[in-house]
Amino acid sequence: MEARSLATRYLASLGIVLLCSPASPAFAFAPELHLEFARKAAQAYQTCPGVTLPAQMGKALAEGAKAEDTDPLTFFQRITNWHFYNRNDALKPFWFANRSLDKIFITRTEALDDLLEGPDADPIEVYKQAGRVLHYIQDMSVPGHVVPTYHIKDPFDGFGSIDALPKFSLSAEECQKLHDDAATETASPGAFLENAAKATLRQIEQTGADDKPVVNGAWANYWVYPSPDSADAQKGWGDYGVCPFSKGSGIAGCKRDEQLVALFNYQYEQALKNSVWMLFYLQKRLDASAVKTSAAQ
Ligand SMILES: [Zn+2]
Repeated sequence: MEARSLATRYLASLGIVLLCSPASPAFAFAPELHLEFARKAAQAYQTCPGVTLPAQMGKALAEGAKAEDTDPLTFFQRITNWHFYNRNDALKPFWFANRSLDKIFITRTEALDDLLEGPDADPIEVYKQAGRVLHYIQDMSVPGHVVPTYHIKDPFDGFGSIDALPKFSLSAEECQKLHDDAATETASPGAFLENAAKATLRQIEQTGADDKPVVNGAWANYWVYPSPDSADAQKGWGDYGVCPFSKGSGIAGCKRDEQLVALFNYQYEQALKNSVWMLFYLQKRLDASAVKTSAAQ
């Protein structure tokens, strides 16, 4: 009796906290950045040889990528599904919240498959849904989401302002590589997300080229895994280090501003390249479903 009322009270207060906080732990890059990344990726994709993408498709992709953080219709899914990478499969569900992105990501990719495999897929709907899937792949460029470090607001996320984002373009070779990566038989958003997360862990030197853990890598003062707090570590979390990812911290042992900018820009470029991959992947799937449709007629 006592236990039940405690649990009920606990659940109720947790629900209030989740409902009242302006942002849920779902956020990584700010919603507007997701939109901007997808928009910039669509522009770069357009410059790849042999590619045409109607403007409204690029717009639908960008809207979908943003909607995953803002759509009021999926609000409940958002507060109960956080956008953290399930590193080592260690983030387990907590009460009614899925701490990792695993469940919601599968929901989104299955909905995309349903659209692509169903008859007469509306391309706008397809691109919108693909944007929702892409959102999680973009999140994998934010170290705090991959380490993973529990947070509501992450300094890396707020590091780049939309107006100050570097120019992004692709060479013909880079286009070709992304095209080829999307064309392989085993290419899937799930496998791609996994690779994107692993690439980020290598970039911040938490893992080496063999994906094995690295102790005291170059960014160990920024992100730590597992968390030094044993209770958090047990839940699968890492933690932030002593250095904040923000300019002019002036703390001994922290990196220079240029080094922070270089990491942010590199990760930003990865997020955009990964977004272009999604566009190549989508085109491949749409081509295949058009072939199927015309064969059936
Ligand atoms: Zn997110």
